[in-house]
Amino acid sequence: MKYDVKAFELLSNEEIADGIFDMRVKNDELAPLAKCGQFAHVYVPSKTLRRPISVCDSENGVLRLVYQVKGEGTKIMSEMKKGEAVDILAPLGNGFNIEKGKRYCLIGGGIGVPPMLYTAKQTENPLVITGFRNKDLIILQDDFKNAGAYSLFDVEGNNVPTSWAQLLIFSSGYYIIQIIVDISSRKLFIRRYDIENDRWQEWGNIIMT
Ligand SMILES: Cc1cc2nc3c(=O)[nH]c(=O)nc-3n(C[C@H](O)[C@H](O)[C@H](O)COP(=O)(O)OP(=O)(O)OC[C@H]3O[C@@H](n4cnc5c(N)ncnc54)[C@H](O)[C@@H]3O)c2cc1C
Repeated sequence: MKYDVKAFELLSNEEIADGIFDMRVKNDELAPLAKCGQFAHVYVPSKTLRRPISVCDSENGVLRLVYQVKGEGTKIMSEMKKGEAVDILAPLGNGFNIEKGKRYCLIGGGIGVPPMLYTAKQTENPLVITGFRNKDLIILQDDFKNAGAYSLFDVEGNNVPTSWAQLLIFSSGYYIIQIIVDISSRKLFIRRYDIENDRWQEWGNIIMT
């Protein structure tokens, strides 16, 4: 069976950050089929179209769906209560193919972060880099650490120049190299993160002409 529609039992639906909810739903047949990177289509009463929400985690028959209240559908989801039956079509999408023996660097921001948790749990010793708009929207950092990931996060306007236009991060061995283009000052900042010593090292600033 690839996917199906089933009633999942709602175990919990908690607000974990400003407007962001962590819904746990149980179905022993469908939840174990989910691969990292796949999503669930949640039926919302009174709405014709299902709402797509990524699989944040799947363990012991429980799917974890972390979602942000955006419009009417997700608002109704946020009001669903423990014990309710949630009609879910899952798992959908191709998911990610994780190769054993490779080290992965997972990069994401905001509400794009939840599917990275299940992915981190499928990889060995991953490096997880996440960014959030403000400190009230930071999510899942403890979960990443519990999954054995090395997790770094940043808040926009905190550690990076506010007018950054592009942020490129590579993982090369034990270093993360960050290149920040600050359009307003026409500067390119380069710094590297030394994981073993847990600190950033400036590599230099280049003035763009
Ligand atoms: C594959 C996939 C995975 C997603 N995973 C997550 C997740 O893990 N967490 C999370 O918070 N959000 C996720 N989203 C976005 C989430 O589906 C939308 O925020 C949600 O559908 C908004 O519904 P609403 O009724 O609250 O908003 P409304 O604005 O009222 O929605 C109006 C209509 O637009 C459709 N719609 C809205 N946003 C999207 C969208 N991004 N893609 C397709 N149709 C959309 C809805 O189905 C509805 O028919 C995902 C979207 C996709 C496509």
